[in-house]
Amino acid sequence: MRAITVEPGKPRSGLLEDIPEPPVEHGPVLVKTLAVGVCGTDLEILEGAYGFAPPGKARLVIGHESLGEVLEAPAGCGLEKGDWVVGVVRHPDPVPCASCAAGECDMCRNGQYSERGIKSADGYASERYRTRPEHAVAVDRKLGERGVLLEPASVVAKAWEQIERIGARTSWKPQRVLVTGAGPIGLLAALLGVQRGLEVRVLDRVTDGPKPGLVRDLGATYHTGSVQEAGAGADVVLECTGDDRLIHGAMQIVAPVGVVCLTGISMGERMIPVDIQRLNRKMVLENSVVFGTVTANRRHFQAAAASLSTADQGWLDRLISRRVPLHRWTDALVRQPADVKPVVTFV
Ligand SMILES: [Zn+2]
Repeated sequence: MRAITVEPGKPRSGLLEDIPEPPVEHGPVLVKTLAVGVCGTDLEILEGAYGFAPPGKARLVIGHESLGEVLEAPAGCGLEKGDWVVGVVRHPDPVPCASCAAGECDMCRNGQYSERGIKSADGYASERYRTRPEHAVAVDRKLGERGVLLEPASVVAKAWEQIERIGARTSWKPQRVLVTGAGPIGLLAALLGVQRGLEVRVLDRVTDGPKPGLVRDLGATYHTGSVQEAGAGADVVLECTGDDRLIHGAMQIVAPVGVVCLTGISMGERMIPVDIQRLNRKMVLENSVVFGTVTANRRHFQAAAASLSTADQGWLDRLISRRVPLHRWTDALVRQPADVKPVVTFV
């Protein structure tokens, strides 16, 4: 079968190649891949900047944003032939740590977790893959190919869940939300904020392309100025860029008792001056919280599936900005002006 593979650590080593059928030890559920979304992590892996091959192997099958159709599943496992499923990305560490043992491998404490398509486990960008029933989440067929958005949506479903759990420390009723970055993660974070009845503002740099319209059509407002202008008084800031200035700005402008949620990963080495003493005074005297969140567990995939099912399906369609057939998969990696989420299609 065909698969997109890479030699982790080696730039431009990505290949569409024939590999053996998925081994039975990966699990009793056999899935036919329908589509795989491409994100920044895939680009980093293909540039040799991140990624780890499975133990004993030189190459890694990439792809962690998946959508597939079940071809075989054991009776009574909760999945049936014909179901459409999305694979959970992070799997528990072998020890396991207390978090992984509790089904929260997104919170793994020893770093020995694996992530399909990213770290020590083959991903979903192969024509077929195998998995265990607990690592596949069924999606509503009416979502259609929009189900490929479930994995990025699970990341923001977790972020929102964590924000609400932190908020539950007091009688907090957030109203205003600032989302920094209008990429797929920022747009889905804004969607989940609007679904919660909150007033959502989204800050990005671009003034044209699909982002401003997508934000407006959610019922949120689009901003291109400073964090201060866009977000003053925000009860929640969802930082989706990893940009040092936006992170610093978010901490400065968040409202008293507010929560700053960091989801972006900073890539550079730049140093900016930060007045920690001033930041300390603000955070202590205003009871603010800054926290980070990464990936998602099965519970978040299920929450995300519910959010996507109730969203405007036409709006979700616009997030999938390009469909690239498998044999031309490298086209999906070249960023185009109208890109939101490019997807590689397998059928
Ligand atoms: Zn763990």
